[in-house]
Amino acid sequence: GETSERPGFIGRLLGRGGAKTTVTRRVLDDDMLESLEELMIASDMGVDTALRVSANIAEGRLGRKVSVAEIKEILATEIARVMEPVAKPLPIYPKRPQVVLVVGVNGAGKTTTIGKLASQFRAAGKSVVIAAGDTFRAAAVEQLQVWGDRAGVPVLTAPEGSDPASLAYDALKKAQDEGADLLMIDTAGRLQNRQDLMAELAKIVRVLKKLDESAPHNTVLVLDATTGQNALSQVETFQKLADVSGLVMTKLDGTAKGGVLVALADKFGLPIHAIGVGEQIEDLAPFDPEDFAKALTG
Ligand code: GDP
Repeated sequence: GETSERPGFIGRLLGRGGAKTTVTRRVLDDDMLESLEELMIASDMGVDTALRVSANIAEGRLGRKVSVAEIKEILATEIARVMEPVAKPLPIYPKRPQVVLVVGVNGAGKTTTIGKLASQFRAAGKSVVIAAGDTFRAAAVEQLQVWGDRAGVPVLTAPEGSDPASLAYDALKKAQDEGADLLMIDTAGRLQNRQDLMAELAKIVRVLKKLDESAPHNTVLVLDATTGQNALSQVETFQKLADVSGLVMTKLDGTAKGGVLVALADKFGLPIHAIGVGEQIEDLAPFDPEDFAKALTG
C-alpha cells in the first residue's frame, strides 16, 4: 500500500498482552510465522523477502519456545543481513571531475539531496559544481540555487525551457576547466512523458561522453520513503530511462520506516548511498543496516 508502514510491528504482533509478553516465551509455530510474514509484507518489505526472512527465522527454531525479544532480534538480524551488502556510500573515484547524475520523480527530494551532498563534499574539502538540469521547472532551479548558496557551491543554470543536455555539457566543460572534484547534475522528474524524459536523459549522457567517455560516473536515483511500495516501480522505470548505479532514500525522518528498502535490496541489489532524515542541510546520513533494521522491527 501507499504508506502502510507503522512503527513497531513486531511489538504489535507479539506484545498483545502488554510488556510482560516480551519475556513470555511462545512456541514458534506456523501461525506465528504466518503473522510475522503478514506484518513484514504490510511494512512494504515485499512478499519474496518476507517469505525468505521467515524461512530463515524458522530454520532450527520451528516448534521451539522463543521470546518476543528473541524474535525481534532474529528479525532485525535477518533484515540487517539483507541490507549489509547494499550499504555503500557514494564511491569517490580518482577521476576528476566525477560526474554524478541525479534522477527521480518530482518531489522525491533530488534538489534537497544534491544540496546536502554538496555540503558534505565541501566539508570534506572537495570542490563541487552543481548543474540545474531541470530547466523546465523554474522553481526547481531557484531551489537549487538556494541550496548551492547554503553549501557554498556554484550552481550553473540555463534559461527556462532550454536544452538540459547543453547545460550539462557546459557544466562539465566548466568543471573540467576549473579542475573541480565533483559535478552533480539535477534532472527533470516528470514521468508523464516517459519517452521525452528518456530521450532527455540519453542526450545528457551522450553529450557528457563527448567530454569524458566515462561520464556519468554515478547515476543516483532519489526515492521518497513515504511512497512505500511505489519505490519498486520507480526503480524499474528509471532503470529503463537511465543506468541507475545507486539509491538515496529521503524522508525517513517521518513515520515511514522505509520497509520497502528491504524489498529493493532483495530485488535490485543497488547500493544505498545515503538516507534523508530531514529538511536541513545536515540531514543526510549514511545508511546503517543495523540501525535501520532496529527501527523497522522496533
Ligand atoms: P525534487 O523535486 O526531487 O527536487 O524534490 P525536493 O528536493 O524539492 O524535495 C521535495 C520536498 O521534500 C521538499 O519540501 C523537501 O524539503 C522535502 N524533503 C526532501 N528530503 C527530505 C527528507 O529527507 N526529509 C524530509 N522530512 N523532507 C524532505
